[in-house]
Amino acid sequence: MINPEEFPTVFKNGIPHNGFRVGKGWVELLRAAFGKIEIFLREHPEYQESFKLVEIKSKFGVLRVYAQAGAEAISEALDQAMDLSGRTCETCGDVAYEHTSTAYYTSCFEHGPKTLIQPD
Ligand SMILES: [Zn+2]
Repeated sequence: MINPEEFPTVFKNGIPHNGFRVGKGWVELLRAAFGKIEIFLREHPEYQESFKLVEIKSKFGVLRVYAQAGAEAISEALDQAMDLSGRTCETCGDVAYEHTSTAYYTSCFEHGPKTLIQPD
């Protein structure tokens, strides 16, 4: 999982109240977003006070990150991670089969719920 010490400026105002409640497959998406935000906040210290990650979770099969962003660059980094989660297996990080809203889980074939329709 993610060690907050990797991104000291991102977690300066605390960690999300539920921690990081997503599968291992999405950790690298979060890490990429936090890396961008860490750099942005160091270069723009005026945003450090207002930035706060509120909650991170999986909702309807996609990553949801709730934050007080305060800057467009931060929102973009988080949006990108959320967009990519719809195409990334939450279990292993592999390319996901098409996300279906009824399955509530984004996954590759191997980790897909039985409700996913297999391709021909
Ligand atoms: Zn998988």
